Amino acid sequence: MQYISTRGSAPVLNFEQAMMTGLARDGGLYVPAEIPQMSAGDIKSLRGLSYEEVAFRVMRPFIGDAFTDTEFQDIIARAYAGFGHAARAPLVQLAPNHFLLELFHGPTLAFKDFAMQLIGQLFQASLARSGNRVTIVGATSGDTGSAAIEAFKGLDAVDVFILYPHGRVSDVQRRQMSTPSESNVHALAMDGHFDDCQARLKDMFNDLEFRDGVRLAGVNSINWARVLAQVVYYFTSAVSLGAPDRAISFTVPTGNFGDIFAGYIAKRMGLPIDQLVVATNQNDILHRCLSTGAYQVDQVIPSISPSMDIQVSSNFERALFDAYGRDGAAVTRLMDDLKTTGGIHLDQGILDQLRRDFTSGRASEGETSQTIAETWQNSAELLCPHSAIGVKVANEQIHAASPMVTLATAHPAKFPDAVKAATGIHPPLPDRMADLFDRDERITRVPNDLAALKAHIKGALG
Ligand SMILES: *Cc1c(COP(=O)(O)O)cnc(C)c1O
Repeated sequence: MQYISTRGSAPVLNFEQAMMTGLARDGGLYVPAEIPQMSAGDIKSLRGLSYEEVAFRVMRPFIGDAFTDTEFQDIIARAYAGFGHAARAPLVQLAPNHFLLELFHGPTLAFKDFAMQLIGQLFQASLARSGNRVTIVGATSGDTGSAAIEAFKGLDAVDVFILYPHGRVSDVQRRQMSTPSESNVHALAMDGHFDDCQARLKDMFNDLEFRDGVRLAGVNSINWARVLAQVVYYFTSAVSLGAPDRAISFTVPTGNFGDIFAGYIAKRMGLPIDQLVVATNQNDILHRCLSTGAYQVDQVIPSISPSMDIQVSSNFERALFDAYGRDGAAVTRLMDDLKTTGGIHLDQGILDQLRRDFTSGRASEGETSQTIAETWQNSAELLCPHSAIGVKVANEQIHAASPMVTLATAHPAKFPDAVKAATGIHPPLPDRMADLFDRDERITRVPNDLAALKAHIKGALG
């Protein structure tokens, strides 16, 4: 299996190299050169299997010969062993024809654990074999960072630095990043928004001297291995609801476009997916783009769903690459325009192409709170604000022809203030992390400045 860059000029890599590299050297994102296909028979044979077995069958063709079958099965088993639910990604019913896919039973209570736990095990296996060391630097709006620190803490061959926007993550998110005591993890509180963190991270990757000097590796949602891990639960949930004999729709609370892009890959592999609905909060650049064709970068307005407070959705480039007929030069021009002017307008043909796969909606702050309250009243489910945005938008798009699955991306206890404000209930943390607020924190404050960040990281590596 070969991986190519969306900008067309970085070297073609295998799975392991693409995973270790993260952002391509031409600034693009790696995608598989071809999408492996699963027939209706292949999909039927997933019925009744464990999450781990489905994960193996769905991901195996993308891995190529990077790991043997036994190695890969062991990696998957270790990745999901720490989850607090035997089904890993259980479905619950919310209303007639509407289901909630609970993706928050991992160690940090958000769907990011599905990908990060797997990538932690993949890195460990790969580095143990090569004898190499890497420095992982990640940017987070809250959940990626905690999931990364949890997945990589204490691993021998890895140092992890996580940049998060100072003062803009929830207390639970911050504590999940700042309380692990392992010396190889570093929580960096940066001045600015998530987009600033992501921009500095990209700058570090584009600084090839620094990148090679510290052996920089990326685990942000641009990393192909993360997208791949997320493809699995589209299969497990769709098969539970009757695929491939009927088509299923999905609504996905969206920020960086990684989770929904995984759904698009599942569809391209052959899973019958009717609608893929992008649900955004008030930072609705993707909804505006899919409605009008204008991808216009705006100010980030902080919301009660902070993990979706994003303007530049990195993974959208992968969808654009396909919409442009996989023309890397066209994507390069488009992205250069975006960088210099802060906005691009998609041609009608490209927009039509995107709309064949994606529809969209948004929820305001008031609508988000109202949906948390109504879902609690009507269905006795406590939703985190991100999941509530999904439910609100799904309710607008649901129709009788196919069951709707809304992805519940975080546990309500990760965002207790918004849940309490809407329902009067303070959602408790699961027992396994009940002492989170008693642990000591370790945080370094850093400026929004590339040179200072590079110096800090080099200093900490010694
Ligand atoms: C990361 C995250 C999202 C957005 O997912 P993307 O893959 O970035 O689109 C939504 N909800 C929660 C809780 C998250 O942590």
